[in-house]
Amino acid sequence: MRLAKRVSDMTGGGPDGWAIYYQARAMAEAGQPVTNLTIGEHDVRTDPAILDAMHRSARAGNTGYTFGAGKPALRAAVAERVELRTGVRTGPENVIITPGGQAGLFASHMVLCDAGDRALFIDPYYATYPGTIRATGAEAVPVPTRSADAFQPTAEVLDAHLPGARTLLINTPNNPTGVVWSRPTLERVADAVTRHGTWLISDEVYDTQIWEGEHLSPRALPGMAERTVVIGSMSKSHAMTGSRLGWVVAPAEVVTAITTLATSTTYGVAPFIQDAALFALQQGGAFESAIAEPFRRRRDIAMRVLGGPNPGLRLIPASGAMYLMLDIRATGLSGNAFAERLLAEEAIAVMPGESFGAAAAGHLRVAMTIEDNAFEDALVRIAAFAGRVVQEPAL
Ligand code: PMP
Repeated sequence: MRLAKRVSDMTGGGPDGWAIYYQARAMAEAGQPVTNLTIGEHDVRTDPAILDAMHRSARAGNTGYTFGAGKPALRAAVAERVELRTGVRTGPENVIITPGGQAGLFASHMVLCDAGDRALFIDPYYATYPGTIRATGAEAVPVPTRSADAFQPTAEVLDAHLPGARTLLINTPNNPTGVVWSRPTLERVADAVTRHGTWLISDEVYDTQIWEGEHLSPRALPGMAERTVVIGSMSKSHAMTGSRLGWVVAPAEVVTAITTLATSTTYGVAPFIQDAALFALQQGGAFESAIAEPFRRRRDIAMRVLGGPNPGLRLIPASGAMYLMLDIRATGLSGNAFAERLLAEEAIAVMPGESFGAAAAGHLRVAMTIEDNAFEDALVRIAAFAGRVVQEPAL
């Protein structure tokens, strides 16, 4: 069957990097106990109060088409939230509601990049980034970072890649590294994109999950509001991954362009989901902290268990999001080989760093998405396993 090249180009035709996850799922389905630390999703479900709001809205008749950029009340609430959190003047005209942050990522690249344009993203990266960019016809170009720099880009690497680039996609707090980028890093990024005339696309879907330091939206840096597009989402902040509710915050012309695109793609977001999102946002900061709290606790557990020196294993400073990154290069194994053996020998599934780009080779991503005691037990066993690998005679 002949399908569009656009789609085969999205994946590059190689493995999708989720082999360990599929194996772990198959083991679990066959009744074998597996500790699964692969998936970036809360171990709680959407709060019943939010579901009640969704149900009330649907029963009240909010089940028809929603045209345009989203319900006015929700756009206004998102604008107010962003303005409060960043200090940057933001009106409803700067906001479009999208079916999740992912749709916002696609739409932003779609309206900013022409086919063949260079679109940069930071490596390591969230697994959908290269495919999302390629789906728009742009050329997806990774910008490498180093483990030793906590995976934050240097001025040199930015200046080497930015000439001629249309967009640069960044993500802080970061998936997969669990790093919150520092103010100097973001100032460096802002300076570089300004000098090179590049759009900045800032994926901030983890902005309520900060364990250390502060979240700084680069849109709040001087002169950046007119060249920054921010991706937001209810998925992580309110445990609403399945509801598919996100947004793009951008200059009004970009919002208008994404609205035009939406008319031919998503046709808006279900009105009862938008009403539930508005209700959820109105629950305030304490609600959001409660959703983030389990990850904060588990990050503290990880600091206690893995924060010191460990043979074969180093914890990258974990300051946000629901993930830990472990540097296991001292074991001599690749991330893939380590993850495969860990699953076979310890029945623990983690994501190989290689699934998130060449820069994360020799690392593992651990999702902090299981109950505290089981999580602590898994970390102790991963550390012990790394220690045993280090002791193995070299072949
Ligand atoms: N960006 C990052 C960095 C993510 O990790 C995710 C989801 N895992 C998304 C965007 C997309 O989130 P959603 O579409 O659910 O809002």
